[in-house]
This record gives sequence, C-alpha cells and structure tokens, in this order.
Amino acid sequence: MIKPEKLLFAPAGIPISTPRRDTANGIRQVKKLGLGAMELEFVQSVNISKEKAPEIRKVAEEENIVLTCHAPYFINLNAVEPQKRGASRSRILQAAKILDACGGYSVCFHPGFYLGMEPQKVFENVKSEMKKIVDEVKQLGLKVWIRPETTGKPTQFGSIEELVELSTEFDNVLPVVDFSHLHARTNGKFNSKEEFEYVMQLIEKKLGKSAVQNMHIHLSGIAYSEKGEKNHLVLKDSDMNYLAVLEVLKGFNARGVVVCESPNIEEDALLLQKTFEKI
Ligand SMILES: [Zn+2]
Repeated sequence: MIKPEKLLFAPAGIPISTPRRDTANGIRQVKKLGLGAMELEFVQSVNISKEKAPEIRKVAEEENIVLTCHAPYFINLNAVEPQKRGASRSRILQAAKILDACGGYSVCFHPGFYLGMEPQKVFENVKSEMKKIVDEVKQLGLKVWIRPETTGKPTQFGSIEELVELSTEFDNVLPVVDFSHLHARTNGKFNSKEEFEYVMQLIEKKLGKSAVQNMHIHLSGIAYSEKGEKNHLVLKDSDMNYLAVLEVLKGFNARGVVVCESPNIEEDALLLQKTFEKI
C-alpha cells in the first residue's frame, strides 16, 4: 500500500486550468502546477473503465502523482432495504477496484444516514456492511485504503469519534478527515487550534502514529447553517480557519494527502500548500 512520505496537496478532480480536460492531462497539469496528488471524482459514477485504468496508472507513475478517489454520493450503509445496502457496497467496491487499477492510494466515501435511529445501532449496522466490503477488498487483493469520511450534516453518520471507533475494527480502514465538514456539521464549531488538536490527538491515541502519517484529509471553504453543510466556498470567502488546521498538521508531523474541494480547486490547493510550507 502507498504511504506518502510527506503531506501532499491535491485538487478535487481535474484542475480547471487543464488543457484538453481528461484524467491523464489532469494528472500532467497537477504536476505542472507543482501539486503532489489528485482526487478522482467518481461522485456521480465511477467514470474510468478497467480498460482505461492502466493508462492512468502509467501517467501517474511517470509524473509521480498520488491518486485518491471519491466514491459515488449515492451510498447509505444504514439503508433499511437490503438491496440499497448491497448497491452501496458495490459502489464503494467498484471505486476501490478502479482506483487500485490506477495504482491509487485511498478511497473516500460518505457512509450513510442515521434515518432517526439510535447512533449506536447505526454504528453496528455500518460496521457489519463495512466488514463485507473489507473482506472482499482483501479477497481481491486490492491495495487501497477504505475510508469513510466525516460528513457535513448532523443527519449523516460520520462524526470523527464514530469514524475513529469504526477504524479500530479493521486494518485497512481509516477515516477521511474533512475538517470543513466537521466545522459545518456542528454549525461553526471545529474552527480553533484546540479543536483541531483534539481531532489529531484522538487519531493518534486510538489509531496510532502510523495513522497520523497516513492521512486522507479534505479542506476547503464552506457555507453552513444549523442543518450543516450548504455548499463549498473559496477559502478567502469563508470563515474556515485553514491556517490553524495546517499548523496543527505540521505540529503532528502529519503525512498523506490534503484534498481541496473549493470551487477554484487548484488555486486553493496551491494556497494551502504554500501556506503549509511557510509554517
Ligand atoms: Zn465527500
């Protein structure tokens, strides 16, 4: 499995500035921009075929760019209907298979919704679906990390505590820490150095130093209300305290990939990288 040797910064998807926009040219553009990684956006569908994947892998290796992916949005591992849970599992697995064929690092997904159930019950439901996914990932010999993401709405399963706890159950599962989602799901909390330190301490304590050196992070501007996330914003138009996040990451000597989902994806990814380097 890939373990980045430092903290790499990535646009969420093909950079806007890419000439002849496709995945291969996007990877080349990421390299030209001086960034270290790119997230493949499978959010509507897994849009790279298994025939095409080896070509993507070759370009990523040539350019030395680490690839992550965001699995489709249509996932609810807590769905009541078995066929919906099955479809959710196969979307995650499909993303994992293709990312693995592309030589990638880590698969991110939104695990599901509480649907008004007790959080502890939801945890157990999600855990039992995760077990099936993880077993199949191992059986297939896929070398990618399977990572549920901290979610942006209080109706969605995925607090940092839940995902850290879930990750202790499996050896190829770690959380995607979306700091902007943590900020939005709590209607404005998680925006200080102390709160970001709490997140990193929790990871270090429960999942070990190796998890701190193997992070998949999302960080972007965000708009929110008491219902949580509304939409992503450019960092300078939002109140997201990204400087404090980066200072804490530096303090913990974090490694891995920081993906930026701001609307100006590569510009804010470069801003984050530049700011991080100056700390
Ligand atoms: Zn996401």
